[in-house]
Amino acid sequence: MKLDNKGEGDLVTYINGNRLKERIKLLSHCSIPSKGVTRLAFTKESLHAEELVIQWMEQAQMMVRRDEMNNIIGRYEGENDQLPVLMIGSHLDSVVDAGMFDGILGVVSAIEVIQFLSDKEIVPPYPIEVVSFCDEEGTRFHTTFLGSKAIAGTLTDSDLEKHDDQGCSIAEALQEIGLDPTLYTHAKRNVGDLLGYIELHIEQGPVLQENNLPCGVVTEFAGASRFNIRIEGKAGHAGTVPFANRKDALTGAAEAILFLEKIAKTTEGVMATVGKLSVQPGASNVIPGSVTFTLDVRDVDEKRKQNFVNDAFRKIRGISLNRGLLFHHEEVLTVSPVKCSNEYITIIENVLKDNSITPLKMVSGAGHDAMAVSDIAKVGMIFVRCKDGISHHPDEFVSIQDMKIGTKILLDTVLKITCYKGDVIID
Ligand SMILES: [Zn+2]
Repeated sequence: MKLDNKGEGDLVTYINGNRLKERIKLLSHCSIPSKGVTRLAFTKESLHAEELVIQWMEQAQMMVRRDEMNNIIGRYEGENDQLPVLMIGSHLDSVVDAGMFDGILGVVSAIEVIQFLSDKEIVPPYPIEVVSFCDEEGTRFHTTFLGSKAIAGTLTDSDLEKHDDQGCSIAEALQEIGLDPTLYTHAKRNVGDLLGYIELHIEQGPVLQENNLPCGVVTEFAGASRFNIRIEGKAGHAGTVPFANRKDALTGAAEAILFLEKIAKTTEGVMATVGKLSVQPGASNVIPGSVTFTLDVRDVDEKRKQNFVNDAFRKIRGISLNRGLLFHHEEVLTVSPVKCSNEYITIIENVLKDNSITPLKMVSGAGHDAMAVSDIAKVGMIFVRCKDGISHHPDEFVSIQDMKIGTKILLDTVLKITCYKGDVIID
């Protein structure tokens, strides 16, 4: 394989940066009117984005199908179509008021890799499939990894009963777009069907920018636990109940949340966030009787995460007791940490080195489809620098140069994993 690069200029010249940029822009228009991009699963905006992706996949000589969970899969045949498939890609859905790149860059760059292979008439030994996963963010149905879990075979019947805020279930949403929800298990791939899965994604953090690097290699994904917490006190008149008699649920919750921040800051490797809070009855002249809030805890070390949660809840119970309040918690989600394949980490490290990029090993604090796919196949992940680490926000930004470099790293990784031995002639 000849893919030597003599410097960054040379490195990226043959990746079509304008096409990447143009496609990302076109997909960003598949959105309901909002401050950023808002494209939830099974909506007409999603359908529009899927149509574009299908068109681009076909242009790159892929055979395209929509699987039973609405994942869009484009297949590029290798020398032997009986061999397991290398899957590359990411997701098409977004959060509310998102940026243009999260998920999208992984899909568009994967299509660009295949476009390059077909333009150069390169046939790797193994087939390659570009996947555009449906509903990774889980914004609409409060789920995660819907499409990738279907492919990994870890989605369940009860998952399909989950509803959006309008009361529409996932099963109904599938029906609305013409898919039969009883067939979702047909999307499942077996262990051995996939050679592996490689995902390119924006970093969503500032580490690459701080290290002045365009790309990095992910070694593992943090596990996550999410809880709904309720602190119960007693509502009362804001003007008449003396402080000594108050059971103010909000001041108790405030003390608990500040404590969570304090111990998270001093526990290496743990991230803890309270992202949603609701005060009842919620009137300016009433002492809060009850407060509910969420707690999201992440760590690559499952045991340390569990210890953190146990310590935190013991302390919050104490805070509540001191204030005459009741403390309840309910775990609503748990995702175990996932390690990337050592083989893929090494391949991506070597590809980065070959492209004169220091191979920075990184941990992903965010969840990605690769975590779901890891149940059935080896996974690897390439991170691309995003400006100031901002994501899930309209200001999310990746330069054309970084998009091109990321795509080149993905291309080289694909060629190495599929053991392509031929020459790649760049003119
Ligand atoms: Zn994403």
